[in-house]
Amino acid sequence: MLSEKLLDLLSKQITDEYYAAYLYLAMSATADKIGLKGTSKWLFAQAQEEMAHGTRIFQYVLERGETPSLGTIAMPPASYANINEIFEEVLAHEQKVTKAINTIATVAMQEFDHACYQFMMWFVDEQVEEISSVSDVLDKINMIGDHKAMLLALDNELGQRVFVHPFPEQA
Ligand code: MG
Repeated sequence: MLSEKLLDLLSKQITDEYYAAYLYLAMSATADKIGLKGTSKWLFAQAQEEMAHGTRIFQYVLERGETPSLGTIAMPPASYANINEIFEEVLAHEQKVTKAINTIATVAMQEFDHACYQFMMWFVDEQVEEISSVSDVLDKINMIGDHKAMLLALDNELGQRVFVHPFPEQA
């Protein structure tokens, strides 16, 4: 059993994680279009991770004996001007997700739902990593400026990312 408030928040989080996946897929397509194949691959892996997050929360709600209400996944923006705009948007989005995750953890704490609080701690840690890795990429992009050769080197570096399923038992 979950409180109605937590069930609502977790349901909304499932939709939001899937929206994030959708957003990163759109970005992956844009990166591919502008010739940044490595960046496209990085964003695709990011999208896969978000789907795994949404699915994990979905499973957790079921484990707690509840039925999540799945919302509408909004249409993501269709295109971005450049890689700077993409990663600024990724960072802004992850900051929003961090707030939402913290809110769920806070409500779980206030309701003495220790199990849900404990469950959310994985996501709290995950957000620290997300913000850190996205900030690192953005720092590099800002350092690179208009230097095309450096941009291609960064694209190559981002293309080394291999998707590792965060919940192998789900795959
Ligand atoms: Mg996520």
